[in-house]
Amino acid sequence: MQNFKKTLDQYIDARMPIIFVDTSEDDIAEEEIFTVLKRKRRGILSWSLQSFRDYTDNTNIPKKSLNDILNLLLADEDDLTNKVLILKNINDFLENTEVITTLKYFAQKINKGLFSNEGIDDFNIIIITPLMNIPRELESYTTIMNLDTLDETDIRNFIEVFVKKLELRMPTDDLMDKLVMTLKGLSKTEIFSVLELAISDDGELDYTDLPLIREQKQQMIKKSGILDMIPLKESLDDIGGLEILKIWLKRKAEIFKNIKKAQEFGVATPKGVLIVGMPGCGKSLTAKASAIAFDVPLLRLDMGRLMGKYVGESEANMRRAIHLVEASSPCILWIDELEKAFAGLGNSNSSEVTTRLFGNFLTWMQEKKSLAFVVATANDITKLPPELLRKGRFDEIFYVDLPNESEREKIFEIHIGKKRKKDLASIDMRQIVKETKGFCGADIESVVYDSLEEAFIQKKTRITTEDILKTIENTHSISETMKDSLENMAKNYKERKFKLASK
Ligand code: ADP
Repeated sequence: MQNFKKTLDQYIDARMPIIFVDTSEDDIAEEEIFTVLKRKRRGILSWSLQSFRDYTDNTNIPKKSLNDILNLLLADEDDLTNKVLILKNINDFLENTEVITTLKYFAQKINKGLFSNEGIDDFNIIIITPLMNIPRELESYTTIMNLDTLDETDIRNFIEVFVKKLELRMPTDDLMDKLVMTLKGLSKTEIFSVLELAISDDGELDYTDLPLIREQKQQMIKKSGILDMIPLKESLDDIGGLEILKIWLKRKAEIFKNIKKAQEFGVATPKGVLIVGMPGCGKSLTAKASAIAFDVPLLRLDMGRLMGKYVGESEANMRRAIHLVEASSPCILWIDELEKAFAGLGNSNSSEVTTRLFGNFLTWMQEKKSLAFVVATANDITKLPPELLRKGRFDEIFYVDLPNESEREKIFEIHIGKKRKKDLASIDMRQIVKETKGFCGADIESVVYDSLEEAFIQKKTRITTEDILKTIENTHSISETMKDSLENMAKNYKERKFKLASK
């Protein structure tokens, strides 16, 4: 936990007028801030809804409104030199014009401080709040900070302290590794409550607690409102076809799993892949399966939910999502339907927010050092900004087409095999495959399920080629229902010459 303190120290020296600490853990933030300020011998003034405290002369004023306090301080500006004002949980006040105006007035005075007697020298305002929006008026005076996330050593130490305090049995090295990996991405407060819950049943911290801890983590990540942690089910073997893409992913997985050795050898850290192409052909399935191949958790970013209604909210969400992803790494970040987030970008009606959001994302993709492998999927690339398709952002861009004959056969085998493996031998695949030209993977899956249902209703003991052929006859494949748009898509993709996912 060193970065936060170091950066804060620098920001204070650099006379940053307003420093936002984006967190709901105000107690931890405050502790860190106090350490820095005491070291710097700064006077501390701290306001929260409950009270205003002046630590320089230890006065305490209960329940005074933020406005009143700001006005009180304004009246005695000269007294503020060499002090820091901390404001906690003031989100509700960031829509109050009077508060905003006074904060801006302070910020301007701080900026002037160095150069004239009119200003306030050596004074900063630190706001600790889970940030939704920075008022426009304050943007140019504001710097945003996040608390340090706990690294593996921090989490290990934390668990050790917890175990010793409660006099529990110390986990074995193997269990400790698993606990640490599972708890990555969570804050101290969250880890504490998960551990408390884990021992509440039998007073021990053991292997049987891992599923519960995983589930709690899933919930906590979901609470962030932007990311989901997806349970892992499908592996690369559950994907029919897409052989080239699968081989490529296996290579990257090999590097990822041996990253230290790979880096020492000079191999680049895998960044991510963009998978574009026809709907229903296994793009999302591949994203999910790669988490098993890479042997890491899968986080899904919902671009739609990222867009907030306040100024700055979307960026705060994006920052928080990236923060959480980095903290959870090694992991796979799956960005589903990437085009939805960037719809409208570059057009005359493109919103400023989307442009900025996109900028943040590109910078992160470009600069990220963490082991977060991005798998982005998109159906319609015409809506994607060209910068994203440039080489270097992703390690590779793959195009997934409708499955060819042998791929359709494999997809049928996978889906029939999942439910009725023993019927496979008697089914005439060649005929079925011939009749399903233009079907996507999802169409094939539904043909299998419909055939199974029909056979069951008819009280048959197994499914036959005839059952399946009959269902095929009654199915409208994607190539029929989306004929025009698929043709356009195919034309567009072929012009771009992306790497083909299938042989
Ligand atoms: P996309 O993301 O390309 O729109 P999905 O991966 O969501 O498509 O596919 C939907 C479902 O169709 C999958 O969950 C899977 O059951 C089935 N499916 C699609 N493509 C394949 C494939 N190549 N192999 C096996 N199943 C497939």
